Amino acid sequence: MTSDIQIHDHKSWMSKGQPYYFFGPCSAESLEQMRKTAEGIKRNFEHVVYRAGIWKPRTRPNSFEGYGEKALEWLKSVKEEFGFKITTEVANPEHLEQCLKYGVDIVWIGARTTVNPFAVQAIADALKGVDIPVFVKNPINPDLPLWLGALERINGAGIKQLGAIHRGFHLSENGPYRNYPRWDLAVQLKAHFPSLPLICDVSHISGSPKLIPQVAQKSIDLDMDGLMIESHHDPTNALSDAKQQLTPEKLFQVIQGLTPKSSESENPEFANKVETLREKIDALDVELLEQIAVRMDVAKEIGAYKSDNRVTVLQINRWKQILDQNMKNGKSLGLSESFIYDFLNVIHDESIRQQTDEAND
Ligand code: PEP
Ligand code: MN
Repeated sequence: MTSDIQIHDHKSWMSKGQPYYFFGPCSAESLEQMRKTAEGIKRNFEHVVYRAGIWKPRTRPNSFEGYGEKALEWLKSVKEEFGFKITTEVANPEHLEQCLKYGVDIVWIGARTTVNPFAVQAIADALKGVDIPVFVKNPINPDLPLWLGALERINGAGIKQLGAIHRGFHLSENGPYRNYPRWDLAVQLKAHFPSLPLICDVSHISGSPKLIPQVAQKSIDLDMDGLMIESHHDPTNALSDAKQQLTPEKLFQVIQGLTPKSSESENPEFANKVETLREKIDALDVELLEQIAVRMDVAKEIGAYKSDNRVTVLQINRWKQILDQNMKNGKSLGLSESFIYDFLNVIHDESIRQQTDEAND
C-alpha cells in the first residue's frame, strides 16, 4: 500500500543545530537533577532539545512511573534557565494537554503507544488544531505498517511538523543490543517518507554505554537526521535506565568521536567514480536476479516432480546440506555468516512457496 504525508520541510522548524540532538535524562527526577544535567550539557552544546520522561511506561507496576505534573515544572524551568527547547513522551490526550500548558516545544509518542492504533488516534484527535512538532517512535515489534500508520494518523490530524524516532525493536533474540536495531526497517521508513526527519534513539537500542558510539555512528552512516541520547549527571543513581545513561561529559566525548557524514560530496571526482561503480552494481543486480529466476525455475521443476511422486516439498536434510555447504562457501568468499543465513532462508522460503504453488496447481 502506498501512502503520502503532507509535512513542512524540517529545516524550517527544527533547531539550527546540525544534526538534531535530543539529549537529557531518561526521567525527570528532581529540579536539582534536571538542572545539573542541563548545566553539563549546556557546557558543550548550544542547540539541544532537552528530553526528560515525565510519565514513564514501566513493564511492572510499583516501579518508578515518573513524577507527572510537578516534573513538568522542572522541565519548564530548564527551558527558561538554559534556553533549550524541551520534549517529552505523551501517551494520552491528558499528557498532551499538560505539555501544552507547560510550554513543551516538541512531544513524542513512545514505542508502547505506537503499537496501539486506538491510543494513537486518541492523541491525534487531541492534536487537531494544535501546532506542535510531534515525533513518533517505532513500535516495539518490527512492524513497519504500524509505524507508518501512526505517522499517518498524526499527520491526518493536521500535524505538519512531523518526525520519526528509531529506537530498535524487541525481538526474541536481541544479540548484544537492548533493542535490536533492524536498520533495514529504518531504511524502509526513509524510502516511504524521504522528507521525514528521522532521529536515532541510540540509548534504547544500545542499552549500555559500550555500544553507544558504534550505534550512533551507524545511524550517521545511514544518513539519519539526529540523535537521541540519554544523559544524567549521576547515571548510577538514576531512577530509570541507570545502565544506559551517560554523564554530560561522556556524552560530549562520544559526540566528538563521531565522524560526521553528508549525503553528497563537494569533490567533483566523487560523482564520476561513484557513477562508474554504480553502473557495475546495476549490471551485477540484473545478473543476480536472472540467476535467481533460473534457480526458481529449477526448483519449480523439482516441485512438480515431487508432487507427481507424492513426496513432501520440505526435505529437511537437503535444506541442512544447502545451508551447510553455502555457509562454508560464503564465508570463504568473505560474506558474513548472518547475511548468508538470511539470504539462503529468503531464497529457500521462495523456493518452497513456488513448489507448494506447483503442488497445489
Ligand atoms: C524513553 O525514551 O525513555 C522511552 C521510554 O523510550 P521507548 O518508548 O523507546 O521505550
Ligand atoms: Mn529511557
